[in-house]
Amino acid sequence: MSLFKHNKTRLRFAPSPTGFLHLGNLRTALFGYLLTKNMGGKFILRLEDTDQKREVEGSLNKLIDILSWIGIKFDEGPHTTGNYGPYIQSERIAIYNKYIEKLLEDNLAYRCFCTEERLTEMRTKQEENKQAPRYDRHCRNRSEEDIKKKLAAGRKFVIRQKLPEEGEIIVHDELRGDIKFKASDLDDHVLIKSNGIPTYQFANIVDDHLMEITHVTRGDEWLSSFPKNILLYEAFGWTPPKYIHLPLILNKTGGKLSKRQGDVFVENYRDKGYLPEAIVNFCALLGWHPKNDQEILSLNDLEKEFNIDGVGVSPAIFDVEKLDYYNGHYLRQKSLDKIVELAKPYLEEAGKPVANQETLKKFVSLAQDRMKKLSDVVELTEFLFALPNYEHELLCWKTQGIKDAKNNLREIALELIKIKDEDWTKENLEKIVFAWLKENDKKTGDYLWPLRVSLSGLKNSPGPFEIAWALGKSETLERIEHVTK
Ligand code: GLU
Repeated sequence: MSLFKHNKTRLRFAPSPTGFLHLGNLRTALFGYLLTKNMGGKFILRLEDTDQKREVEGSLNKLIDILSWIGIKFDEGPHTTGNYGPYIQSERIAIYNKYIEKLLEDNLAYRCFCTEERLTEMRTKQEENKQAPRYDRHCRNRSEEDIKKKLAAGRKFVIRQKLPEEGEIIVHDELRGDIKFKASDLDDHVLIKSNGIPTYQFANIVDDHLMEITHVTRGDEWLSSFPKNILLYEAFGWTPPKYIHLPLILNKTGGKLSKRQGDVFVENYRDKGYLPEAIVNFCALLGWHPKNDQEILSLNDLEKEFNIDGVGVSPAIFDVEKLDYYNGHYLRQKSLDKIVELAKPYLEEAGKPVANQETLKKFVSLAQDRMKKLSDVVELTEFLFALPNYEHELLCWKTQGIKDAKNNLREIALELIKIKDEDWTKENLEKIVFAWLKENDKKTGDYLWPLRVSLSGLKNSPGPFEIAWALGKSETLERIEHVTK
């Protein structure tokens, strides 16, 4: 592919401050970051806050937090330095005003004085006639005099882009090649709203140009307005950056990734205890395929291996089970100390008092291999904090009767009592109990199943020696006594 590679590359991530980071936006940020790494150059953060209705306070800091948690670093942006600031659009209004004046002078944009009522009426008619909703260009050819009069009368107006009425517009996307659009399908859309604030479609282009952006990665929902963007570049006589429209992310049933079907924000996943490594690995494969089919990729690996050739155009499928798989993988890779540190807040939040660090470590060690996410630690260790109520029949191994199961437990308890506190390790417990079973010609299942159930109260759990070790000698004996007395 023809993406050039030199240190003049400037690629930006331009989110709107809407509160939380949508997974689709994270994917855009990640691909942009990785492509910048791949090409060498600067990665820039720009806050697109011209839509005040959608703005949520505190978004910028939250955004920076979550992206740095993920490991994405910016070379320029509102939170750091750079020679192309301000990097927040609401601080650039004077700049947009200057550029829209130029378009008005060149007659490539025009003031539209249509009232809301007129526009609503127009749309209703279009709907009735089964026409596509489009501005009917009513104000496109107003005389200077007329405009002056309306301005003097204080009439409200928006500024619209003057688009060609006929012909074809050919635009180039780095993934799809040339794409043709009919001019007659395009709408003279709004560049400046009636409150004087620019729309995304205007501010974005002015900023990309002034910030000397060479590459744009954005979601393919922007493809339909792409020709209008290119025409704006033409109107100004500017060279557009190279555009890479990333494929849509769909849910497993083929629909849009939306809040109704589950979590769509990166923050939701962080809070549930997904690791950044897993989120990065998972998101990198939403629309990108590595040459060697490698599945496990760290951010470091991706910084080296990611390139545009592996990016496809067909929609990527968001499968949370796949994310769980990656998360489980990265959780198992962590040292026990690290997992304890990460899991502790979840236990605290759930109101599980852990007596001491050693016990906490033991409890977490029993859960580590089974966790899909850190928050699972609560459920997976619950039985260690308090023995759940269980049907005593669960103690019976296969056809074993309840009396036998309890007798066997009493027998085994007598052996366990003999083990000194300092010898109370998983290995010793296993060695001693197995030796005793063998010596006395006992069947393993007849003893170990009831033992495990008496300690966990569960049908499925870690093995009896691990649990006994984690609980400690006195709690182990108490749990056996509780069911055998
Ligand atoms: N502000 C736009 C958004 O949040 C950015 C699109 C783009 O990257 O150009 O979707």
